[in-house]
Amino acid sequence: MIDKQRKSRGPGRSAVADAAAASPVTSDRPNDAIAERDGPRDECGVFGIYAPELDVSRLAYFALYALQHRGQESAGIAASDGTHIITLRDTGLVSQVFDEDKLRGLTGDMAVGHVRYSTTGSSGWENTQPIYRADNHMIALAHNGNLINAVELHAELREQNVNFRSTSDSEIIAALVSNSQAATLQEAVAEVMPKLKGAFSTVIVNKEAVVGFRDPAGLRPLALGQIGERYCLASESSAFDIIGASFLREVEPGEMITLTERGIETAMVCPGERRAFCVFEHIYFARPDTKLEGQLVQQSRRRMGEILWREAPVDADIVVAVPDSGNPAAKGVSRASGIPMDDGLIKNRYVQRTFIQPGQELRKLGLRMKFTPLPEIVEGQRLIVVDDSIVRGNTTMQIIGMLREAGAKEVHLRISAPPIRHTCHYGIDMSSNEQMIAHGRTVDEIAKELGADSLAYISLEGVYEAIRGERGAHCDACFTGDYPLADTDRAQGKFALEELAVVPGGSGAPA
Ligand code: SF4
Repeated sequence: MIDKQRKSRGPGRSAVADAAAASPVTSDRPNDAIAERDGPRDECGVFGIYAPELDVSRLAYFALYALQHRGQESAGIAASDGTHIITLRDTGLVSQVFDEDKLRGLTGDMAVGHVRYSTTGSSGWENTQPIYRADNHMIALAHNGNLINAVELHAELREQNVNFRSTSDSEIIAALVSNSQAATLQEAVAEVMPKLKGAFSTVIVNKEAVVGFRDPAGLRPLALGQIGERYCLASESSAFDIIGASFLREVEPGEMITLTERGIETAMVCPGERRAFCVFEHIYFARPDTKLEGQLVQQSRRRMGEILWREAPVDADIVVAVPDSGNPAAKGVSRASGIPMDDGLIKNRYVQRTFIQPGQELRKLGLRMKFTPLPEIVEGQRLIVVDDSIVRGNTTMQIIGMLREAGAKEVHLRISAPPIRHTCHYGIDMSSNEQMIAHGRTVDEIAKELGADSLAYISLEGVYEAIRGERGAHCDACFTGDYPLADTDRAQGKFALEELAVVPGGSGAPA
């Protein structure tokens, strides 16, 4: 069944087509030494479009390309032509999963797409999305977020003899919707939404429509766009820019939006007690050209740099960004301080995720996959090094070491996020509390551990000033430990469903 379909080289035309390319890409996570960074991992990106006169799969492909930063473990598109749903998904980057032939096979009037970094379940093929199910409703679903009641819902569904093919919480949403006895997809979604606890920005396609919905707290982003006379949904507005769509508005927390031949229909299904949009989306996750809550992310991040300088000035000669994530805040520090910015660190732009492990020897030699310091710029200089966050501190420590080796006289670290001390249960994969460098340490102790001459983090008030938002409408739990949703302590961790060994045949064990 699924495993046989995996061998397929392209999507076949059948009502149960759930094909994946037999790509040589493995599912193991790259070694930390060569991963992009040791920061929190982006979660997932979703896209949905209804546009019969357009090449919806090609548009989904380019939209996913723009959302690639939200997940690099797998990519997939499901297209519906009103009769069938064809799903093609696999591990790897968008550009590795799809080619011309595969996109040509994904014909349809509407489509949903997904890029994934696993926040629940392992990164194997069975957990790639969109998830196809055809119980009472034939659907394909793409989800960004994390359910905190996944284990309970899973147990309830298993009691009803519902089978699962994956170990991700996203299939729980798909199973609930697909098994609903409601007459329409919208009614099924409206029935299921109140049962879900946690973060869920989700898009579903069936034979008639694309339905998008967002959790009552609006933890993860979801935006509505217009392309010609038709409509689309995406995790970030930057996905609209690449396909020539215009950004209309964000989907409201608790809202369900349906895209059909008639245009859009909206319904407020689950009004929440409070909003809790992830403030870290502004600081780190979203693309700089995305608009969140009315603010262009690039500008918010630059303001964070300006505020950081106001809160923690220091005598220095040049401002150096940790590229690319530290660039906007470094510009803000430079602008506010009048200290020139220079490229003391060069990023190797062509390092993609690699599945080749460096081994102990190369690691000892200080394999420099990602950054190279420029001695000609940093030698004898007092540096302000700006980055957007520190989780475990391994990469930051390496960067400071490299800059000192290159001759930097002083290294003053400025971080445009507050210290991260608590794990996220709403769709971001962070280290455990104990692995976080700020856990149980003062800022001075962290500076010493990292080898910096000084260290300052932006204050939480500074973050809200920069994003022009209210604390009461956001989640900032990874900085404060104040989790905005009741029952967050019920969240069971990334591999909870695997630990229950719930998948027949044991597939989906942690990678
Ligand atoms: S805990 Fe942090 S990363 Fe997670 S949703 Fe809240 S602010 Fe975002």
